[in-house]
Amino acid sequence: MNLLTDAWIPVQHQGSYQKISLQQLLCGEQTGELCLPRDDMELACLQLLCAMTQVLFIPKDKKALGQYIKEPITPEAYADACRGKMDWFDLDHPETPFMQIRGVKAAQPTAMDKLLAGVADGTNKAFVNPQGLAEALCGGCMAIALFNAANNCPSMGGGFKGGLRGSTPITVLIKGRTLRETVWLNVLTEETAESSMPWYQATKNQLPNYLDRIKADAKIPVSALGLNRGLLWQPAHFEIEPSQGSANCSCCGCYEPVYNGFNKAKFNYTIDGVWPHPLSARIFAIKKGEREEKFPSFTTTAPTWTHMSRLVVDKQDEKEGQQTAPVIQQARTFMAADRIQLIIGGYRNNQATILERRHELFSLAQGWAEHGDVIQQIIDDGLAYKTALRKALYLFAAGIKDKVNGSGVNLCDPVESAYYQCTENLVHNSLAAVKFEAPQEELQELNAQLKAIVTNLFNQATEPYRQEPKMLKALALARRSLHKSLKELEPQGEAHE
Ligand SMILES: [Zn+2]
Repeated sequence: MNLLTDAWIPVQHQGSYQKISLQQLLCGEQTGELCLPRDDMELACLQLLCAMTQVLFIPKDKKALGQYIKEPITPEAYADACRGKMDWFDLDHPETPFMQIRGVKAAQPTAMDKLLAGVADGTNKAFVNPQGLAEALCGGCMAIALFNAANNCPSMGGGFKGGLRGSTPITVLIKGRTLRETVWLNVLTEETAESSMPWYQATKNQLPNYLDRIKADAKIPVSALGLNRGLLWQPAHFEIEPSQGSANCSCCGCYEPVYNGFNKAKFNYTIDGVWPHPLSARIFAIKKGEREEKFPSFTTTAPTWTHMSRLVVDKQDEKEGQQTAPVIQQARTFMAADRIQLIIGGYRNNQATILERRHELFSLAQGWAEHGDVIQQIIDDGLAYKTALRKALYLFAAGIKDKVNGSGVNLCDPVESAYYQCTENLVHNSLAAVKFEAPQEELQELNAQLKAIVTNLFNQATEPYRQEPKMLKALALARRSLHKSLKELEPQGEAHE
């Protein structure tokens, strides 16, 4: 199974499902939307397509990239780009199989479900995954699963290394009008690669680490990891067992040769620093003059929009900052005049356990590139109203020591969840439709709607306790706090200016 020549990309087009090859996709011979039953595998498939396209073609500059986006390439150009790289993408290669190391010694093979995040050990697996998933994987799904495990998932546990971005990074991709366009929009030009990775030129001819292996216990500075090597980095030693024949793939459902297990072995080394992945924002803090960087991830149940500003707005002061993904920085230079659609996804984990997976679409209105302050304002408002509500409910539960007895009824968490549910569409719509040039009116309207939602939720939540004499004081205290907070959040009118 070679990812450069075989038809492994699962797409749906006008109601029919088929698998197409990367050549068919990039040459415009076939089209469709990616289609896999698991949204995380679908996202990983897209990431893999972008990584492969990036490795095969690096457009020199904006203009060259624009040409790729506009017009499909010729089969000759595709064949040229694949020359010399066939060995990189062969799942069954005798010496250098795709994202695997030959000769992995393990006491016994690991079942395939361990490679699909959240299936083997997720606490909510019955909810997240249909039963029977991941017993056997076809070549395409196998490649996607290997790539996903290497890039997006927690490591296999103690002694196993995780991906270059930490255990469950948030991935950001730009969505185009077609799959082909989407792939190209997430490919860096040589110019962008050089600016986000100053060592790009010196490392551009490197091989992936499953072809040019690293030594055990090596200490590797990030500046020694080139673009191709980083995109296809395999952090662990895996080797899939040879296929024993055909069956229905547990992921895509197709009847094809399948793989039933893999071997894994611990392998130690250290990467020093944070590799600037093209599809990830980075946040940093300056501590004792040193810059400590990391990749944002979903650490709580708070919805994805709460992370939006650090995914699309660059900021920095003396103490901390955030830097958007290189693909977003690149898009600012040629998509500033358009609205942009972003695909945002990732897992939320507790160590090796996947608690939740996300794969969402966001739209940002035209003007997004220059008006980060407005995006920040929308997110800040959404969060500030939530905080006002939580604060009032906290006072209702706890009261004030020695002054007001609390009710002992803590409504903070359930009402916060309700708030996020009620406001999700509102925030999405605001980001998608705001007039970035003159946002005042819309921001006021947003605030008014958020205020109405908060007031409503507060009343609903506390209603059952209104007749409890012992709780009246706590309720009055909470209500006063809410009114005060809401007053403070009101946008300053013209009369005050
Ligand atoms: Zn499959």
